[in-house]
Amino acid sequence: MFGTSGIRGVFGKDVTPELALGVGLAFGGNGKALFIGRDTRPSGIVLENALAAGALSVGADVVRVGVAPTPTVAYASRSSLGAMITASHNPPEYNGIKLFEKGEEISREGEALVEKKAREKNWKLGEPGRERRITTAIHEHSDLVLGSVNVSLIAKRKPKVLIDAGNGAGSVITPYILREAGCNVVALNCEPSGFFARGLEPSIQNLEGTSRIARSLGADLTIAHDGDADRAIILDEKGEMLGLDAQLALMCGEMLSEKKGTVVTTVEASLAIREAIENHGGKTEITSVGSLHVAQLLKKRGGIFGGEPCGEYIFPSTHLVPDGIMAGLKFVELFCANGSLREAAAKVKTYPMKRAKYPCKDRKKSMEKILGKAKALGGKQNRGDGVRADFDDSWVLIRASGTEPIIRITCEHKDKKGLEALFSKAEKLVLESIG
Ligand code: MG
Repeated sequence: MFGTSGIRGVFGKDVTPELALGVGLAFGGNGKALFIGRDTRPSGIVLENALAAGALSVGADVVRVGVAPTPTVAYASRSSLGAMITASHNPPEYNGIKLFEKGEEISREGEALVEKKAREKNWKLGEPGRERRITTAIHEHSDLVLGSVNVSLIAKRKPKVLIDAGNGAGSVITPYILREAGCNVVALNCEPSGFFARGLEPSIQNLEGTSRIARSLGADLTIAHDGDADRAIILDEKGEMLGLDAQLALMCGEMLSEKKGTVVTTVEASLAIREAIENHGGKTEITSVGSLHVAQLLKKRGGIFGGEPCGEYIFPSTHLVPDGIMAGLKFVELFCANGSLREAAAKVKTYPMKRAKYPCKDRKKSMEKILGKAKALGGKQNRGDGVRADFDDSWVLIRASGTEPIIRITCEHKDKKGLEALFSKAEKLVLESIG
């Protein structure tokens, strides 16, 4: 049932009302209220009703949050249980379910337990729980975010901000919170109608129209969300998307200038991220790809910020889930403090990189062989997800694809010659192991 980001698939085929009912029955039965929210996909209301029916049947109280971003629903469930019905950046025909406990995404073990209970179907039906609807979740989340950014700085500068929520869940919060912070706001694709004017992934291709509008408006910056607004992607004052690494590097610098500490990122983080963290006096910790892993390591290390180069940022001083609304407001603050984001991003250095993929018969077996010999790569090694070896001026990652029979190498080095040498070393290891 559960993949790398909760339950996800095509509605009616992989993700059905029966499945949502089973999740409600399995997750609802422990006496705590369940907060349920959804993004703007038309199938969301069907899954919400099925999930609610399941939870109510086993006596859980259900609190309906309605259409709201994933971080909003997570925050609403901070002293209880939560379920978010969303397929994030996937196309409209997809949907899915993410589960929360005490405001944090449940662990892999927690997911396995829900799945086991849902399969066993050993329900104890009794007196149904109570249901209520709330409209306060968005206000509470807004207060959380506004309490964590420098509103007087923003209100003084009054930046012109274009917000493109992709007709997703961010439509119901981000334009309003920007206005409340004192921005001059232009809202694009902020009708939560169930019709989508652009692809839900905030990619360069999907934001072409947004970029044109940003230029013609002369927007100081543009914020674009994915379908559930746990991600924020930023376009600069020329309407061009900031590089994903540059965005993350800028935010690492910003957060460390507020408070020194540990920053968590993933095995895919480039040298620019490591440099931004070290130049600002922070410590880099690396974990497997995925916001659940970033959140777990942040909690363990008491880190001050966590981020992945896809626009998913976690601000632990607020809560331990990626928050695209908070990220958007932080970039507005960054703009107001520094002026041009374009110039700031241009200062983030990029280095030569090389990527390759190698088809193999059995990616698990091949990866085991690679790990058996990976000591030869040298460097400081992390084996949370494949093997990543870090050196002063470079790093290399060998990792099996999550979905295809492929082993991938990613390598970055400050100079081209060094890049070739390190890459060859890794390639040799892979070729020896995939036979
Ligand atoms: Mg998302």
